[in-house]
Amino acid sequence: MNQELLQKGIAALGGTITKLQIEQFSAYSALLKEWNAKMNLTAIVDDDGIAVKHFLDSILPLYHVELAEKSSLMDVGTGAGFPGIPIKIMRPDLRLTLVDSLQKRVSFLDEVCRRLELKNVETVHGRAEELGKDRQYRERFDTVTSRAVANLKVLGEYCLPLVRRNGIFLALKAEEMEAELESAKAMLGNLGGSVEAVISAPLPESDMVRKLVLVRKERSTPTQFPRRINRIKK
Ligand code: SAM
Repeated sequence: MNQELLQKGIAALGGTITKLQIEQFSAYSALLKEWNAKMNLTAIVDDDGIAVKHFLDSILPLYHVELAEKSSLMDVGTGAGFPGIPIKIMRPDLRLTLVDSLQKRVSFLDEVCRRLELKNVETVHGRAEELGKDRQYRERFDTVTSRAVANLKVLGEYCLPLVRRNGIFLALKAEEMEAELESAKAMLGNLGGSVEAVISAPLPESDMVRKLVLVRKERSTPTQFPRRINRIKK
């Protein structure tokens, strides 16, 4: 991982990073490369790419959206831990739940949490649309986030049932997403949500701009949602 790039990027966002956090990012990067040699975790494994496209991209929302102290955050379809783990490194006060439907990725996440000594992190092997029916998870989280898992309409049905009332669903999207947003709005409303903001966030140390879609949960999600996966995808 290119430490200098990470530090420059965080400074450009107006943030600071401690020595411990740099060490945690370095250890995470080393584990990512080591495990990626054995299993498919990510296509981005070069040092600059890890620093910018994984780490800076994951923590970008922290400089645009306020997450309350000690609040709960679920990352749906986290894969190798993005954006959840970088957010947790920068905000150790948050209570993090990482969800992925592939067991081998969850084993990787467990190892990362152990080696980085991250506290208050739960890893869950499961599908979001099933957890959304489970009382242990349904409407429990202050914030539910997700990157690169599905289009916004499908993602809303995965994530909004898990958000508590007045909490937020925060989708990390690429710049061109207007059409995707328009076709998702009605469904987000059916799920009890309303689009509060779409924030354009330049990704430092790159020429890319991210879109952060902030959906407020205004009403409880009707019990018919989430539906079964084949219905959601239809
Ligand atoms: N969020 C990570 C990132 O940005 O690098 C991983 C993105 S990867 C393209 C999509 C991940 O979502 C995979 O790890 C997959 O196993 C998981 N996934 C897909 N559908 C899911 C679902 N319904 N519930 C939980 N995880 C899911």
